[in-house]
Amino acid sequence: MTDLDAFAAEKLATLEAKHLKRTLAETARFEPGIWLARGGRRLLSFSCNDYLNLSQPPAVKDAAIAAVRAFGVGAGAARLVTGNHPLYGALESRLAQLKNTEAALVFGSGYLANLGILSALAGKNDLLLVDELSHSCILAGAALSGGKTLVFRHNDTAHAEQLLKENRAHYRHAIIATDGVFSMDGDLAPLKDLAALARAHDAWLLSDDAHGIGVVGGGRGSAIATGANVDLQMGTLSKAVGGYGGYLCASKPVIDLITNRARTFVYSTALPPAVVAAASAALELIATDHALTAAPLAKAQAFTARLNLAPAQSAIVPLLLGDAEAALKAQRLLEDEGFLVAAIRPPTVPPGTARLRFTFTAAHPDAEIGRLADIVAAKILNH
Ligand SMILES: *Cc1c(COP(=O)(O)O)cnc(C)c1O
Repeated sequence: MTDLDAFAAEKLATLEAKHLKRTLAETARFEPGIWLARGGRRLLSFSCNDYLNLSQPPAVKDAAIAAVRAFGVGAGAARLVTGNHPLYGALESRLAQLKNTEAALVFGSGYLANLGILSALAGKNDLLLVDELSHSCILAGAALSGGKTLVFRHNDTAHAEQLLKENRAHYRHAIIATDGVFSMDGDLAPLKDLAALARAHDAWLLSDDAHGIGVVGGGRGSAIATGANVDLQMGTLSKAVGGYGGYLCASKPVIDLITNRARTFVYSTALPPAVVAAASAALELIATDHALTAAPLAKAQAFTARLNLAPAQSAIVPLLLGDAEAALKAQRLLEDEGFLVAAIRPPTVPPGTARLRFTFTAAHPDAEIGRLADIVAAKILNH
């Protein structure tokens, strides 16, 4: 064993002892995207973020296949070099239209988008205010910017205001950054209040709509759902849009600046043409099929109603169980009933808040949602 192997083995043993070690489980997913094969079992998944099952429709697959046949599998370069395929402009127009902004820019992924946007807009003389439950890539982007990062209590606008009052004057620019729909809790950020706060303190607001697009605001996301004026609406094409990629919707000058300055955009190869074509086809469905975009929230609310939980605000419903071992035990129990509901443990969530995270998609049969709720009531909540 080398010194490096010994280091790795010791770290893993520590994680294992705390029930925090993770392993990859080979999992195949089948049409319409809710059925999985794992470990020789067929499971109904309540853990995918493909909320509208848009990874599967023939129109989306055909768009991807046609793009592969016409243009090949790879983009060949970053977009500022030779990778700016005509398919990109079409996708960005659709995104800007859906989000009601002047312009949009597509990134390699949502994670890359936040790293690039925050580090392009903020530097060492700037202040970043981040909700404590924001996604890892917002915190990583804030750290990469080199600015001063302050964390405010979850959805606590008064705390954010206090931090701005105490600190704003010492910095050049300020950015408030938050998930629009929180990825592990499913609740919405008070974007309207945060937008007013940003205006009052000469700050810019970024909302991460990874779990909002396609699901809330008639499919147009959390800024539209809350009626908020958000300067920087970023998000992902990897969840309800069904494919892969990230984006920013903003004004034309901001998009032009980000195109020039976001390093994760400038120095990273363009997404493959097929991925871009698929996202355009999926967005067409999101913009036009209102019954589809209404379904995940309605299904999540049917589940919370049956369990007497607070009504779901998005397609995500958390069930807090406390310690990691309890969450893993609940996951195994549901697996024995034919359901995959992933246990979410620290550091993805704060210590002591390990949970089951249920996600609902348009294609989930109502009868199975009812059966799941009844098993949760009988075997997890009453134990
Ligand atoms: C998943 C997620 C991301 C990352 O998006 P990818 O396209 O998967 O890289 C960013 N923000 C939030 C809130 C997410 O849940």
